[in-house]
Amino acid sequence: MNDQIKRIGVLTSGGDAPGMNAAVRAVVRTAVGQGIECIGIRRGWSGLITGDFVRLDGTSVSRIINRGGTMLYTARCKEFMDHEGREKAIATCKLLGLDSIVAIGGDGTFRGALDLSRQVAEHGARLSVVGIPATIDNDIGCSHYTIGFDSACNTAIECIDKLRDTMQSHERCSVVEVMGRHAGYLALYVGIAVGATAVLIPERPVDFENDVVENIRRARLAGTTHYMVVVAEGAGNVYDFAAQIKEALGIDPRVTVLGHIQRGGTPSARDRETASRMGYAAVKALVQQKGNRIIASVNGHIEDLDMEEALTMTKQFQMERYDILEALTNNSISHF
Ligand code: ATP
Repeated sequence: MNDQIKRIGVLTSGGDAPGMNAAVRAVVRTAVGQGIECIGIRRGWSGLITGDFVRLDGTSVSRIINRGGTMLYTARCKEFMDHEGREKAIATCKLLGLDSIVAIGGDGTFRGALDLSRQVAEHGARLSVVGIPATIDNDIGCSHYTIGFDSACNTAIECIDKLRDTMQSHERCSVVEVMGRHAGYLALYVGIAVGATAVLIPERPVDFENDVVENIRRARLAGTTHYMVVVAEGAGNVYDFAAQIKEALGIDPRVTVLGHIQRGGTPSARDRETASRMGYAAVKALVQQKGNRIIASVNGHIEDLDMEEALTMTKQFQMERYDILEALTNNSISHF
């Protein structure tokens, strides 16, 4: 590789996701192996504004690959969204001698990175930025997969399996809200994996009678005495759905909001491995001087895409998965 990149700043920003640490480790170890220095910027973009940093070498990222959360902390920073805030960040970059930044987070984080790079260019200087997609929501348009999604699915599944034991014993209906912000990936994957009676996701208009009431009725007729309804947080109010079930069927569902527990825990094999490949690819793209990039998982391959273009991409939600859920939970006749 070549000698032009000398010092990389690495940060984690937005919501935390299991596997962020593995990505930081991969960036640092790959960079150090190429003779490039690494500075960890703490607390996302706000750390770049305040000059909150730590020098990182190969050993300072030891024993973090198996840890959830992020050793660099993460934050959301309003100030960075303004020109003035980013001027302060640029001053820190100059002070630290950063010629590039690897930003690990969601699309908000990448938009911030691109704005920063453009603003540096207005000063006649250059700052290359590379984004690594890490969010449990899997809602980044350019990448089929985002770091943290698999671990969050596993955590939600483990929780719901436990709930199921008690729901089964008491012959109850459980309505569980899972995270995902405006996306239903987490809910649908989890719903399929736990054998949910019904799943509500924002990508599909809610037909309550057909998708929930009818499914529970069918399950009841088939002899089931407990029902699991999985609701994506972006699909609507979980308590309202529970009230509607009570009104329609005369059963009194128990609501569980899984919440932030889904963000924690040991990263899964998939997240550690993907994060390691993405961190490596981020440094490689910088060394190859490819400009501003987002590292993406495209059909299982790790690619680097032009950041500006990648930020305009949208991901087609795979509605076939919903058909699979229906076919497996309802015993209804499916038409291929
Ligand atoms: P997650 O998907 O986990 O929420 P995210 O990276 O999308 O992750 P955001 O809160 O949207 O999370 O963004 C993180 C930070 O990036 C913001 O707090 C802000 O500092 C910066 N940022 C977001 N959008 C922009 C933007 N359009 N311009 C400049 N900076 C931005």
